[in-house]
Amino acid sequence: MALPDMHTAEAIPEAARTEIDRLLQSGDLFRYTAPADAPVSLLEAEFAELLGARFALAVSSCSAALFLSLKALGLPRDARVLIPGFTFAAVPSSVVHADCIPVLCEVGKNYRIDMDDFAAKLPGCAAVIVSHMRGHTSDMDAIMALCDAAGIPVIEDAAHSLGTTWHRRKIGTLGKIGCFSFQSYKMINAGEGGILITDDADLVARAIIMSGAYEHNWKKHPVLQDAFGQHQNQLPLYNLRMSNLSAAVIRPQLPHLSRRVTDGRRNHDHVAAQIGQSPYIDVPAPLAPEVRAPDSIQFNLINMNDAQVDAFVRAADANGVKVQVFGRSADNARAFWNWHFVPDLPDLPQTRAMLMRACDVRLPVHLPTATLDAVSDALLSALETAQGTKAA
Ligand SMILES: *Cc1c(COP(=O)(O)O)cnc(C)c1O
Repeated sequence: MALPDMHTAEAIPEAARTEIDRLLQSGDLFRYTAPADAPVSLLEAEFAELLGARFALAVSSCSAALFLSLKALGLPRDARVLIPGFTFAAVPSSVVHADCIPVLCEVGKNYRIDMDDFAAKLPGCAAVIVSHMRGHTSDMDAIMALCDAAGIPVIEDAAHSLGTTWHRRKIGTLGKIGCFSFQSYKMINAGEGGILITDDADLVARAIIMSGAYEHNWKKHPVLQDAFGQHQNQLPLYNLRMSNLSAAVIRPQLPHLSRRVTDGRRNHDHVAAQIGQSPYIDVPAPLAPEVRAPDSIQFNLINMNDAQVDAFVRAADANGVKVQVFGRSADNARAFWNWHFVPDLPDLPQTRAMLMRACDVRLPVHLPTATLDAVSDALLSALETAQGTKAA
């Protein structure tokens, strides 16, 4: 059967149209024009409620949220920030943008932070960004225990983890700050957009001002007002605000989140069970406390040489499924050795070995079962083709 374009998104709910028409009629696109109840403010209230956080700040991207988080923590220039060696280039970039230095730690074959390397590299770091890459949750019990003991704040990059839970607690609420993305390939699609959540009034007040709440626009945020008074005119304004149009696209998707999460997990587990039968594929299991919210699948090719890995990618493509092996596609933004903007870029042999065999396939949550079966068949038949390939 013909496979659909795996980058298609679900249609934006009809309710967005009425609100967008209203905004176009009134021209009221800037979040701080209306005296109250601007779409961006309503989104912040709804998102905070959904996640069970005290405060939310909507911004232009998850990268902007990560940058503002580091700034709001008041980290000095050249502070060291520990991040996993497997993440999207936007994460070390946000650290560099905040005038801090990314310190990379090793990641295991299961895509999760290697806790021995994490513990070894933590001393001397002023903050940690845990990037739940492709929604894979690292051992948050161990991470929080180490960081709490050392008094080091944890920022969760939950860009791809909206709906994931850890011991039934929502990912993004475990660290001091959680950052999410509304970019099109995430669970909620606004093209671009991000949001940060925290329970810390003083921290969110600083982030709000720096996001571009100039003059007394902060009065439109429901945060303890004393938290703002002391920061007035003390902080730079980076203007990373969200537009009302984006909020109008996001808000009607929030009620669909739990269905998308359930469908995404069902789709993932369906394909994982089928392809996991192959002796050439390992689909790493989640850690016990984690319930995932995937919109893609990652698996490792095992017992295959480089030529066979490349042949597999070509054969899958010919069968209609785009597979990305993170470490073997040119200039991949998730391969740490391409981050030449990071000073003293380390080698991370374990992470590198994982990236050379780790495959990434999108599984949009709206795919029907027949399509999922066709995806599995396409991958399994590509494996057979690859087995016929001799080492180059
Ligand atoms: C998408 C993503 C980002 C970046 O999000 P933007 O909103 O595009 O800035 C950061 N980290 C992870 C893990 C992501 O998946």
